[in-house]
Amino acid sequence: MAERLYLDHNATSPLRPACREAMLGAMDAPRNASSVHAEGRAAKRLVEDARSAVAEAVGAPRESVVFTSGGTEGDNAAILGLVRGGPKVSRIFVSAIEHEAVRLAAEHSGVQVETLPVTSEGVADLEWLAQRLSDYDAKSEGAFLLCLMLANNETGVIQPVAEAAAIARRAGGYVLTDAVQAFGKIPVDFSTLGADILVLSAHKAGGPVGVGAMVVMPGLAFEPFQRGGGQEEYRRAGTHNVAAIAGFGALAEAARPEDYASLAAIRDRIEAGLPESVRVWGRDAPRLPNTLCISARGFPSETQLMVMDLAGLAVSAGSACSSGKVRTSPVLSAMGASEDEARCALRVSLGWDTPEDAGERFLAAWTKEYERVARKVA
Ligand code: PLP
Repeated sequence: MAERLYLDHNATSPLRPACREAMLGAMDAPRNASSVHAEGRAAKRLVEDARSAVAEAVGAPRESVVFTSGGTEGDNAAILGLVRGGPKVSRIFVSAIEHEAVRLAAEHSGVQVETLPVTSEGVADLEWLAQRLSDYDAKSEGAFLLCLMLANNETGVIQPVAEAAAIARRAGGYVLTDAVQAFGKIPVDFSTLGADILVLSAHKAGGPVGVGAMVVMPGLAFEPFQRGGGQEEYRRAGTHNVAAIAGFGALAEAARPEDYASLAAIRDRIEAGLPESVRVWGRDAPRLPNTLCISARGFPSETQLMVMDLAGLAVSAGSACSSGKVRTSPVLSAMGASEDEARCALRVSLGWDTPEDAGERFLAAWTKEYERVARKVA
């Protein structure tokens, strides 16, 4: 039987050997990084080495890195932390393509939420933003937060975060950037993005699941999301998951955007081999090199996932399948997808272990099924 082909790296990427090794090396000894004895100090060294590696990978001061349990926690902690404390933001602008962790945290924060629309290419509409904020008066209307992700998980479209942040800052706003899908795949530079908080997760680029970080602008005050011990300078309570943090540190050293750049050739071969009737989402926008999102009318997402799985390929409908169900994507809807297009979406996401012939193998399997199922309907 042919080997399976895993093309769902934006959901989670297999653990890299370097991360596994770092984790195994950190697993057996007692590892409480807050303990003062030798074992505790050794654990703390592992945590601090990982902090240096993550900070270096994103061009941030090491003290600004706060370890979390992943992207979902980082997004929630950042949003609720800024609403409840620090600047006490009273309005949140959320881009129409944000991950649910951002959108739902904002909706449940108790403050007014406005949607920042995107263009049909899936790029945040900066004209809308500039217009909306042109006469925003933070003194009378209260501080605001702009949430704009660096790269979208479904389409891979890269967002103009630095430009959006400049517009928000001129109006006195704060900026949160979810860089979960960008980390390791494209250069991420905290020093030039203009974000107050950057959120990272390790498992989308080959690090362990269940660990991530918030990168917080030095001096930015926010209310800690969870209370308990004084870990992470009182910014995130809870005993460190030392093995996972060590794996994250190894990822920060191993994941090189140059390696991901070469995946664009495989993505482009797939794109070029698809029938003309297939819509490629964000085709003309800057995109992550590893991500391709398409809609093939007459070929429903559920059917595509099932037949591709039977053919030995793991792909995704793009829209979060956290409940195991495929649902219509708000991201594609925000880009103007018809219901039919949104129902027929498929995401292919490549990663660090994707073989050279992945494009040809995907096309062979997909085209065979498309001709069998969709042509009949068309
Ligand atoms: N943000 C984005 C853009 C994501 O794609 C994901 C995961 O799908 C998350 C946040 C959540 O990250 P985690 O799985 O580490 O909680």
